Amino acid sequence: MPALREHIMEASKRYSNGFKHKGLASPPSNHFIFVTCMDARIDTAQAFGIAVGEAHVIRNAGGSAADALRSIVISQQLLGTKEIAIIKHTKCGMDGLKNEVVHATILRNLGIEAIAEVKSRNMIDFVPISGVAQGVIDDVEFLKASPLIHKDIEVTGWVYDVETGSTKRII
Ligand SMILES: [Zn+2]
Repeated sequence: MPALREHIMEASKRYSNGFKHKGLASPPSNHFIFVTCMDARIDTAQAFGIAVGEAHVIRNAGGSAADALRSIVISQQLLGTKEIAIIKHTKCGMDGLKNEVVHATILRNLGIEAIAEVKSRNMIDFVPISGVAQGVIDDVEFLKASPLIHKDIEVTGWVYDVETGSTKRII
C-alpha cells in the first residue's frame, strides 16, 4: 500500500481511540488567525501555543498573505476571527526564489500544458520573498491596505527561527 494511505489509516486508528475534542464549535475560540509557511519544520501548535478549536492556521508556501486571502476573508466574515499574525520563518525556501525558476521547473517536469494552466489560473506570481523580514512587512501592509480586511483588525508580523524555536515580532 502507498505510504501515505497506510500512514493516515494508522494515525486515524490511534487518534480516534479516546478522542477528546467532541462538540467543539467551529468558530475559533481565541478569534486568532495565524498565516504561516507550509514548511515541515514548523510545529504551529507547539511553537505558537494553539490548542484544538482555538485558532485558524492558514499555511502555504512562504506564508503568503495574498495566497491566504480567500481563507482570511471566510475566517473573518463568517467565523468571527479578530486578529491576524503573519509568521514567516528563517531559512524559508521561498526566500530569494524567482518566478522564472518555478516556471522553468514546471515546464521541464510537466510540459507546456502545465504552463498554460498556470497562466489561465492567474498563478503566474508564486509570491517569492526577497528577505524574510521584508516579506513580513510587505504582507502586513498588504492586509492593512486591503478593503477586504476591516480597519479595526490588528495585523502583526513575525519571524519564526527554525533553529531556536523562537518567534520574534517584526511589525
Ligand atoms: Zn517557508
